Amino acid sequence: MKKLALHWKILIGMTLGILFGFIMNSIDGGKGFVTDWIKPFGTIFINLLKLIAVPLILASLIKGISDLKDISKIKKMGFKTISIYIGTTLVAIIIGLGIVNIVKPGEGMALDTIEKIKAKYETSADVTDKLTKATAQNDAGPLQALVDIFPSNIFQSFVDASMLQIIFFAMFVGISLLLIPEKKAKPLMDFFDSLNEMVMKMVDLIMLFAPYAVFALLANVIIAFDDTEILLKLLQYALCVVGGLLLMIGFYLLLISVITKKSPLWFLKQISPAQLLAFSTSSSAATLPVTMERVEEHLGVDKEVSGFVLPVGATINMDGTSLYQGIAAVFIMQVIWPEGLTFSNQMVIVFTALLASIGSAAVPSAGMVMLVIVLESIGFPAELLPIGLALIFAVDRPLDMCRTTVNVTGDATVSMLVAKSLGKLKDKPNTKEWDDNYDKVK
Ligand code: ASP
Repeated sequence: MKKLALHWKILIGMTLGILFGFIMNSIDGGKGFVTDWIKPFGTIFINLLKLIAVPLILASLIKGISDLKDISKIKKMGFKTISIYIGTTLVAIIIGLGIVNIVKPGEGMALDTIEKIKAKYETSADVTDKLTKATAQNDAGPLQALVDIFPSNIFQSFVDASMLQIIFFAMFVGISLLLIPEKKAKPLMDFFDSLNEMVMKMVDLIMLFAPYAVFALLANVIIAFDDTEILLKLLQYALCVVGGLLLMIGFYLLLISVITKKSPLWFLKQISPAQLLAFSTSSSAATLPVTMERVEEHLGVDKEVSGFVLPVGATINMDGTSLYQGIAAVFIMQVIWPEGLTFSNQMVIVFTALLASIGSAAVPSAGMVMLVIVLESIGFPAELLPIGLALIFAVDRPLDMCRTTVNVTGDATVSMLVAKSLGKLKDKPNTKEWDDNYDKVK
């Protein structure tokens, strides 16, 4: 096992987890066993990743910004990052809408299937919970999202892990450090440098546990599937989403090879542990520390770029989610509201899916909550909303796993592009292992 690359170890863990899940599904009491004795190891792993996310963002962003030593560079980086994020998200939505309009997975769905899905999910707690969350989000004023970026108590932001607030605070500190005399700034800069180095080492240590954690996470996903019949009925829809997501990955690889002149296969190999974790956890926020470690130490993006581009991306750039929202919205209309399928409504979807992906939290199934807002924006009848969500609910988890993988890949791609354009992409990444210093202390 020692010589095997990390991504292979994780893949083996995932495969065994899936097999184990299927076996436990077919054994009496198997599900309970997984819930009680296996799932907690996945939860511990996710907790550890979340534990280090806040100090990591804080340290790498403050260090990165103060290292840039030039406020105009920060402006340039911010502008480039946001513009490329918007650009890739628009491409994602257009790919999604293109596919769903060509394949039309929702046309001709049998009435009894719709009835069955309605009966099973329409009033389920999961669906009503998503609707309630969407209403809460929708009730906020138009500038609330902007107000929410500015914290009044940074410790509260740490507690809530409010990513954008922490990013704002870190940039504020970084820029202020640049504006005071170097001698005075140095102690704090050294502190954050050291903090950053230490948290990166924590990522390496946590990743030693990854192959076992993904086993637990995937076994737990598998035991949640119970109705394969409905799953098969939604296969065409699910394949549209997966096909669109694969096209999106192809688009990223094209950008990597044309703009950064790096090999797409090399890129995939280096970023794969983060992709596999995104797939296993369905959360770009939980994956963020690993994405940062891979992008900095394995893809060679300088801290000053990755420290900004990745946390911002995990929060606002969700290409997989917006592609999914485009497909899901049109699919639902094809099944239960065909009269709403107008060109102008689809244009509204492009715009609202862009905003919705910015507003979606980087946690499991957040994309489905924001889908409600996308649907509401085109005047989708409120009484049909629970049926709409019920329609796609059965396949949401596997699709969430796939779209999160794309979300993370998109963030990594954009960080490479921004780094290249600012001359901050190393030719030879400085790869670090968990035990580089072990001999001296063992
Ligand atoms: N789970 C996704 C993420 O964390 C968001 C979503 O599409 O539900 O990136």
